[in-house]
Amino acid sequence: MQPLYLADLINLAQAPLYLLIAFLALLSVKTAPRPRHVLALYALVSVAWLGAQVVWNRGALPFLLNDFKFRLPLYGLLLLAIILFWFVRAYLLVGGSGWGWWSLGVVWTGALLLLDSSRASTSDILWTGGGWMVLRDDFLRGGIALGWCLFTGAAVMTTLLAFRRTRQPLVRNRIRYLVLILLLVIAGQVAFLATYWTLGSLVSLPGVLIAAYAALTPRLPSLRRAMQRSLSYLITTGLALLFYLAALTLSLSAFRATQGTSPWLVGISLAAVLAVFFTPLLSQAQKWIDRLIAGVSHDPARILRQYSQDISNILDLDLLAKVVTELIGNALDISRGHLFTVSYEKAPEGGNCYRLQGVKGKGEEDPVPGILLEESPLANYFRYQRPPLPQSDIDNLPRFGGTPADERQWLSTLQMEVYVPIHSKDEWIGLLALGPKNSGEPFWDDDLFLLSSLADQTAVALENARLVESLVRLNNDFRRAIAALDQANRNLERLDRTKTDFISVASHELHSPLTLVNAYSQMLLEDPELASNPEYAKMLSGIHSGAQRLHEIVESMLDMAKIDTRELQLDLQPVSLGDLISSINEKLDAALKERNQKFEALDLTSLPAIQGDREALRKVFHHLLTNAIKYTPDGGKITVSGQALYPTRELLTESGVELVVSDTGIGIDPSMHEVIFTKFYQTGELALHSSGKTKFKGAGPGLGLAISKGIVEAHFGRIWVESPEHDEVRCPGSQFHVYLPLHQPEKTRPRPVI
Ligand code: ADP
Repeated sequence: MQPLYLADLINLAQAPLYLLIAFLALLSVKTAPRPRHVLALYALVSVAWLGAQVVWNRGALPFLLNDFKFRLPLYGLLLLAIILFWFVRAYLLVGGSGWGWWSLGVVWTGALLLLDSSRASTSDILWTGGGWMVLRDDFLRGGIALGWCLFTGAAVMTTLLAFRRTRQPLVRNRIRYLVLILLLVIAGQVAFLATYWTLGSLVSLPGVLIAAYAALTPRLPSLRRAMQRSLSYLITTGLALLFYLAALTLSLSAFRATQGTSPWLVGISLAAVLAVFFTPLLSQAQKWIDRLIAGVSHDPARILRQYSQDISNILDLDLLAKVVTELIGNALDISRGHLFTVSYEKAPEGGNCYRLQGVKGKGEEDPVPGILLEESPLANYFRYQRPPLPQSDIDNLPRFGGTPADERQWLSTLQMEVYVPIHSKDEWIGLLALGPKNSGEPFWDDDLFLLSSLADQTAVALENARLVESLVRLNNDFRRAIAALDQANRNLERLDRTKTDFISVASHELHSPLTLVNAYSQMLLEDPELASNPEYAKMLSGIHSGAQRLHEIVESMLDMAKIDTRELQLDLQPVSLGDLISSINEKLDAALKERNQKFEALDLTSLPAIQGDREALRKVFHHLLTNAIKYTPDGGKITVSGQALYPTRELLTESGVELVVSDTGIGIDPSMHEVIFTKFYQTGELALHSSGKTKFKGAGPGLGLAISKGIVEAHFGRIWVESPEHDEVRCPGSQFHVYLPLHQPEKTRPRPVI
């Protein structure tokens, strides 16, 4: 057994790394599969290739002929060159199957292997002539080297052409990575061809590692920036080294010059000088070098501070969109951007969706609104993820493969380069869409990180602006509703005035002729000659009662007109309500008998007399009792009860009397308790009312309760009704309450108006 050489150890140590790369490339799912699979193949072949080198070094595998064993790693190299070319095509997403190339590779390698294996039948010298001799070994090595050059050259050419063909910064960045990979791998393989095997494998290893990084990372950071940073780091480190050396030399000479001084003292002074001057100097130098190499870059902390200051007080959505896109545009050198508000709603074709409403920001055009279906990959991303999403990710990453065509179409009309979701309390409320940078540079990770922080700052302001906007909308709706109400109110007032005018005019015009008709019909009725003829007597009595009924209605209209026009004059005198009720009762006795109804007045004689207008109050109770008779079926009962009321601190300020007219009639629905006191109000259909003053449900003009209320309130009293329901079968009954104060106040106090 031969001992292991250092070269063998180095080769064996690389093998696990290649296996790991193959393993990761096969397992990862975040990036396109083709480059990953080819990379895994490359890594596995590399392991075999390293193994072949160990075999060669140790002269193992005795069954293989020695010279073939020497060429084995070279065949591996050819195979690696073919796979590298394959990787380049997969990485650059070159279309077509590339069968021509693969056939060439197979034929080339096959022919060489065939020649190699015909060792027994052919001589080692393939050709002699002209003083030249071609050995088989040389021919084979030459063939392998030529094949290697062919495929490696093709890989380089494909890369350079792809770089020239594209202007897209992100694609160019990807290709830059490829250039670096090719540089390292090819340099390593050239070293190998030049027989520096170990060096060769060590140089190509970083290339393969970078290839793994590039093939497995969805969003590659800027290679140029990484280079710039490394360069700036190298220069700064060099400077630091120089500084330290200078300080050391100085301190040594100082130490020598001041013989006898304590070395501690010199050391401490040196440390103090370094601490005071070195750190600020170095950081300043770092800044200069950065600026020199990378140009002016933004300061995220300053931008964030300025941004949150500028937008914190904005409550107007349009202004917010303008300021936000303006500030971000200036910070990142972008000339177009929109802010979208997001609302969750029902989708037009069923299901739910997010509606994105654009608010005009930086740029000329108005943003096109969009709809994202709830289950679409885009909505899913914006709903649950915070980091900004570049358009290139939507185009390339497998997770966005299922994006519906119209959502892609919407994005392409926007022509933006990055989308930044805005969340407030885990709810997706907005989206910032930003156009490309003016420099043509893509959005790098630090830009995206800055945008993500800016989106967080925007959330509160956007939420506030949205709230204010909905408040303003609500306020406008409210104002419109008030204006409509106002208009309706004015119309109602006009209608009411017309009604009042009509009542006033009609009652005044009808009053005089009706008085005449009434008087003459009375005279005719009293004529003995006419009375002796039963036919005439009947006709005259009909005319007279009709004229009287008409007279009563016109009287009611006159009363109503007086109440409406506030012309009602009260002739105040002491009134005993008990007497008043019994005198009304006498008049209604005939009707009660006709309807077979019982009447009862409970204890009204003990009530104190009140100050009021007897005739007006007579009308009040006349209407109430007539109504009670009308809305109570035959055989029912009407009761009038009363009580004297004395002031209580909370409810009543003056002494008075409360009278209650109760019946066992059809009752009144509680929802009607207020409206029945308005003029011309009647429940039920007019056509169904039976006519007649005291007939069951007999029709009236709908003025009785309105007049009663007007008169009671003119006495500073109150009238209201209590009844559980309206039911013509069960007849729950109604109670009309009338409260009247004992005394009327001075005239100066305004009387209430109905
Ligand atoms: P009308 O001339 O129709 O009687 P009113 O103003 O006196 O007009 O009454 C208004 C409406 O109130 C009536 O049409 C009736 O529906 C209802 N109403 C009044 N009094 C009673 C009552 N005692 N029982 C049931 N309904 C009543």
